[in-house]
Amino acid sequence: MAFPRWTEEHGVFRESVRRFTEEEIRPHAEKWQAEGSFPNALFRRAGELGLLGIRFDPKWGGAGLDYWYTVILVEELVRGRDIGCVVGLLVQCEMATAVIHDHGSDALRNEWLAPAIRGERIAALGVSEPGGGSDVASLQTTARLDGDDYVIDGSKIFISNGARADFVTLAVRTGGPGVEGVSLVVCPTDAKGFQVSRRLQKVDLHSSDTAELFFDGVRIPRRNLIGEEGRGFRYIMGAFQGERLVLSVMMNALCDDVLAETLGYMTERKAFGRPIASMQAWRHRMADWITRLEASRALTYSAAEQLASGDREGDLTVSMSKLYGAELIRGLILDCAQAFGGYGFMEENYVARCSRGVQNWGIGAGTSEVMREIIAKHRMPAGPG
Ligand SMILES: Cc1cc2nc3c(=O)[nH]c(=O)nc-3n(C[C@H](O)[C@H](O)[C@H](O)COP(=O)(O)OP(=O)(O)OC[C@H]3O[C@@H](n4cnc5c(N)ncnc54)[C@H](O)[C@@H]3O)c2cc1C
Repeated sequence: MAFPRWTEEHGVFRESVRRFTEEEIRPHAEKWQAEGSFPNALFRRAGELGLLGIRFDPKWGGAGLDYWYTVILVEELVRGRDIGCVVGLLVQCEMATAVIHDHGSDALRNEWLAPAIRGERIAALGVSEPGGGSDVASLQTTARLDGDDYVIDGSKIFISNGARADFVTLAVRTGGPGVEGVSLVVCPTDAKGFQVSRRLQKVDLHSSDTAELFFDGVRIPRRNLIGEEGRGFRYIMGAFQGERLVLSVMMNALCDDVLAETLGYMTERKAFGRPIASMQAWRHRMADWITRLEASRALTYSAAEQLASGDREGDLTVSMSKLYGAELIRGLILDCAQAFGGYGFMEENYVARCSRGVQNWGIGAGTSEVMREIIAKHRMPAGPG
């Protein structure tokens, strides 16, 4: 494919991430998933290699690169075959820190962003609440000004890195109802009144920790406000573009890996005296998935190109890309597992294990229904009656 035009620099970067993945993730992937965690030291190692601040300003320790390097980072990390671990790393460098980089004061960047880029402090993003995640404008967690402090009360749920984070980039209500009342603050997790109420048991991505967090009169300094009061909703929506791109790339890369594993098996495995890969029913089924995966990747790369060049259409394209990827991955992985027969239902089989988490992809960073709403809003301006 002519697009994107990968350069030699991209190639060098890809090689270094591949080495990190092959040496430091893949050999431990099964153990970490069985244990339900991966070591905090991995953040520091990724930080040392410059992988945790790719698009961030070198002033704070970032690499000052563009979205194409994020694409490469994600494509290579997925090859480590521990998606939970990849989620943990990407929350750190793409989801929880971008708003501090883009809108935070220099003091906040120095205190929280720079150590996160070095992997010395672990970050989480706290937006979703027990009462609802899609409708961000209705969030209930409050931050009330008291002298020079905010006092936070409320709870958050499904927070990745939540049990191990040193700080949470937290969405709170500082004003009245609706969009204008939402702000973002940095909440250190050693603050009095902060509690990890429970670590949630997921059906997949076992090595990532996903937690419910409780805030009971948590006092943080007013200077921990990110940007301006009342602009938090806009900041979150802006950061969602990067998150959705990351998830789209993850889905394509995972489909790629699963497909390669499956095609290899189908070539070896025989039934009725011939390889499964020679049977037309399977050849056509796989030809469809190969084609759809290529279409998905093209859409994702278009989104990356638009985001990298600051094109406003990027918002629409990345929503399409996330929606398309979530639909693709569900069908592709289940069909691939089917091609393994009984092995496709065994814990020892990577493809079978991946099939457990297929519905996850249509949830995080905006559900598929929310993606459809965004697409419809762009292309069907009249809105629902
Ligand atoms: C593994 C995992 C990790 C996560 N990590 C984080 C994290 O780090 N930080 C964080 O803040 N959140 C995180 N989340 C939460 C995630 O962002 C939310 O689950 C998601 O936004 C949906 O919110 P909800 O679960 O409250 O569903 P709801 O908002 O209650 O929605 C329920 C259903 O209704 C649908 N729906 C909602 N609104 C509409 C509409 N207008 N039209 C049609 N259908 C609609 C939804 O699509 C969904 O199917 C994570 C979730 C998972 C599963």
